[in-house]
Amino acid sequence: MIIFIVLFFVVFIGFLIFLSSYELRDFVAEKFQSIFNKEKLFQAKKFAHELNSSSSLNQTQSHWHLQQWWILVAGLLLFASIIIFAFTRPISPTEIEADYLRKSDPQIYALLNGEMLTPPPEVDEKLVEEAITAAMILNSQNPDSTNAAHSAEHNLELLQQRDHAVIDRKWNKMNPRYKQRLLMVFKIMKERHGYELVLLEGYRSPERQNRLSGNKNTTLAKAYQSYHQFGLAADVAFKRDGKVVISERDPWAMRGYQLYGEVAESVGLTWGGRWKSIQDYGHTEYRMPGLRKTKEMAEQLTSETETGNS
Ligand SMILES: [Zn+2]
Repeated sequence: MIIFIVLFFVVFIGFLIFLSSYELRDFVAEKFQSIFNKEKLFQAKKFAHELNSSSSLNQTQSHWHLQQWWILVAGLLLFASIIIFAFTRPISPTEIEADYLRKSDPQIYALLNGEMLTPPPEVDEKLVEEAITAAMILNSQNPDSTNAAHSAEHNLELLQQRDHAVIDRKWNKMNPRYKQRLLMVFKIMKERHGYELVLLEGYRSPERQNRLSGNKNTTLAKAYQSYHQFGLAADVAFKRDGKVVISERDPWAMRGYQLYGEVAESVGLTWGGRWKSIQDYGHTEYRMPGLRKTKEMAEQLTSETETGNS
């Protein structure tokens, strides 16, 4: 914008000088005539004619030097088309996401330094299924002696991850404000602590939320009361030697959950492991300032950047 204003100003000044100086106008008019006099025009016409006829078959020998002009023209056209292509290519999804964050959440945008993180591929259903089975076996072998209710609770949580048809393990409905924070947690966990995270559930439909809240041991939140409906919450597990690990009875995983909680809190997320009633170690959420827990807001937050996801 500033460039345009400066450019306009320069042109305007030049125009004023031109208007106020008779000598300058005279000089320009003379130059103009000398360039476009009849002689020059005739020469140009002749050249154009020769250039055109040089491409005919019987002149390939005698007019080869003119044909080089055709090559130059073709080269220029090719170059121009590359330039046009480069400047008109569609805006990438990450650019949309970056634009969204720059406007809505400058804090995380600054933290990311303009570089949008890309989500890992969706976790294999078979691996999740195996992890659930392994965790339930571990749970029955080592029942929680001090808190029997917690064992049952954990089993229920595991069973709820079996609802494959309706569980969303993708990243596309998550709001970038949460998504980029969580991806940063993924990155730090891997680079600093050597834990690979996998996304178990991101967006959760209001229907599934209501079904879950039917059992008060797992969640008390009804539809539009959980951050999952706003694309602002997720549940994660770990990956070790190519296998998914969900169990809280696994000391390695439990250590991972503690670190996950610390890292998540450091980027402004709320960790479910700190909750008093029902601890949810894999859960984090972003308590977005100004959030209204309504259906409209949920739909807006989960869809407005849908094009901004890969
Ligand atoms: Zn959750």
